[in-house]
Amino acid sequence: MKKIFEIDGLQITAQRKCVKNVRLYISPKDLQVNLTIPLFATEKFALEFANSKINWLKKSLEKIKANPQHIHLEISKEEIEELRRLIADMVPQWEFRLGVQAKEWKLRKMKSRWGTCDIKTGKITFSTSLIKKNLRCIEYVVAHELAHLIVADHSKKFYAVMAKHFPYWKEIRKELNQ
Ligand SMILES: [Zn+2]
Repeated sequence: MKKIFEIDGLQITAQRKCVKNVRLYISPKDLQVNLTIPLFATEKFALEFANSKINWLKKSLEKIKANPQHIHLEISKEEIEELRRLIADMVPQWEFRLGVQAKEWKLRKMKSRWGTCDIKTGKITFSTSLIKKNLRCIEYVVAHELAHLIVADHSKKFYAVMAKHFPYWKEIRKELNQ
């Protein structure tokens, strides 16, 4: 059930969901401000949270209206944790499949790349922007970065490894970069 509140002249659509944290975001479709209230939180608590972010919301809306192509949506802590869980599930599976082992992996804000692999240290970094992508795209990036532990560059050999273990990599890469 949705409920509409008004804070400082701004309409906020609130909805209760089974989530851990309060979430406030601007929908890219209709520029509606949405507030997700966890089942166990009070409405007052969630509205106070929204109230504390009102200046950020107004500034973001102005920015989006001035330049609709550059919608900046804040990625919540909750989303990052969800991405971390997804990747934590995928990494061991792909390590096993490819017969490699990453020294460590982490998430980082990266604008121009989905992931990087430092083959000297065996450390892999994934972009937090992956949260906006679907599971197969995330899995593609996980497989891709781990495959670099077999072949460092983007040579034919590398794509042969990808093709062997991830037959639809080309289609999914296209989807990822759309
Ligand atoms: Zn690569």
